Amino acid sequence: MSVFSPRRYQQPFKPMRRKEEDNLLMDLFTAGEKQIKRILFSCRMCGNCLLQETAFVCPMTCPKGLRNGLCGGATPEACEVDSSRPCTWYKIYERAEKMGRLDTLLENNAPLDGDRVGRETWIDLYNNWRESETEPKFIEFLTDREKFKADWENAFYATRQPDWWQGDSEYHAPAYEGANSLLEANLQTGDFTSTAEIAPPLSVSPHVISKKVGWLNDYVAAANFTDNASASARMGSLASSKICLDAGLEPVMQLQARDRSRVVIESDAVGAAGLGISNILCLTGDHHRFGPAPMTKPDQFDLDSIQMLWMLRRMRDEGIYIDGRPVKNRPKFFLGAAASPFGVPPKYEAIRVHKKVNAGAQFIQTQPVFDYDRFVEWLEALDKRNLLDKVYILAGITPMKSARAAHFMAGDVPGVVIPDHLVKRMDEAGDKDSQKEEGVKIALEIIEKLKNTSGVNGLHIMAIHWESIVPRLIDESGLPKPQIKSLEELEKPAEKQAVPA
Ligand code: SF4
Repeated sequence: MSVFSPRRYQQPFKPMRRKEEDNLLMDLFTAGEKQIKRILFSCRMCGNCLLQETAFVCPMTCPKGLRNGLCGGATPEACEVDSSRPCTWYKIYERAEKMGRLDTLLENNAPLDGDRVGRETWIDLYNNWRESETEPKFIEFLTDREKFKADWENAFYATRQPDWWQGDSEYHAPAYEGANSLLEANLQTGDFTSTAEIAPPLSVSPHVISKKVGWLNDYVAAANFTDNASASARMGSLASSKICLDAGLEPVMQLQARDRSRVVIESDAVGAAGLGISNILCLTGDHHRFGPAPMTKPDQFDLDSIQMLWMLRRMRDEGIYIDGRPVKNRPKFFLGAAASPFGVPPKYEAIRVHKKVNAGAQFIQTQPVFDYDRFVEWLEALDKRNLLDKVYILAGITPMKSARAAHFMAGDVPGVVIPDHLVKRMDEAGDKDSQKEEGVKIALEIIEKLKNTSGVNGLHIMAIHWESIVPRLIDESGLPKPQIKSLEELEKPAEKQAVPA
């Protein structure tokens, strides 16, 4: 345990290679920085220190190494990966709130630079400090406190935001007009719009997907394909999405950061756009701990979902890859993100949604809603941040298929909260068929509330391995079916493309 941070989960980084200018003095300096920061912060020597932004709690002590906020499974009590430790990001939020610095956490932080890891950061900071046009002067701490604070923040900003990233805490509106996908076009009509999830098959057969597309085609604007959810292998979401598209329904391709480097994320996203897939849901991904054994090595996150959104939005709107190369024929992405309204207090969860929207999220699909009152609290926290006119909210719905499923989701699925009275209703429902009926009844009751809730633009129905129930839910709840079935019906929008930064 260190003085200011939870103990680190992973070992410290080592430099990938020695720099030519390295010498004994530099090695000694780096070793000294490493020891001091280990004792104080459990430092892993990431080479791009964020302590100034994260209330002096090292974010790299998070088992996923997340640099932009907590994951969907975190709770105030524990980390979702290792329940014997606290959530690092929960600690960051708590301390930042005490320090009155919660909004500092909105800045979009860069992924690691492999050339920088394992190296010191204090000399970088010193150089940036000296070279800054607004070099902070200590005398101004006494004579002009506001100027000193602004200059201080600038010096740290230059150190933590490399030229190839330049993250900020501003909202970046999409730089195009019209709709890039049918899902976007349907949401733009203002009608309540539904999507549904199809679990990719365990087999190689495309017919499973085509059959389910047949059930859903007239009822939802698009179908989501999970991307090896729960760290468990299935048909890939890119292949599943293409089969869905060919079968006549627009897909939402889920793209998770786990197991993918930044290079593969860019390449998969461009490949998807080339195949005509525009809706991409950016996810950090479940930790491998949730998958079947044998578990892969634990450090499998190069980016998080916020960094992914930032990178894909810039590819679309500024026409650049992360390395600065131009993207010819920019992809027409409609970018989405997930949200977990039930894990941590809404005021903290809203910060993460705010970062996602700023980075590029245009629609949000939430974890299933069972606790309507808590969901409304979360919506209100988003509204306080003026987010509801910048992003479409699709509230998650999961009809429970059995009492056993209800207990499993309530106890074992990160980010899902089911009030006890609903689990009790499932328990007391009777035989299997009656339990199914009770699950549908509960889902219809929740839909009834959601469809009349201001700020909710539609539903995301996750009927796990029970996709055939989706038409019944939509019919019985009187929800509208998607009106726009072809983008050609719409006037071709003139693209407004931003100048590359
Ligand atoms: S953010 Fe990076 S450099 Fe700073 S304490 Fe954590 S691991 Fe060390």
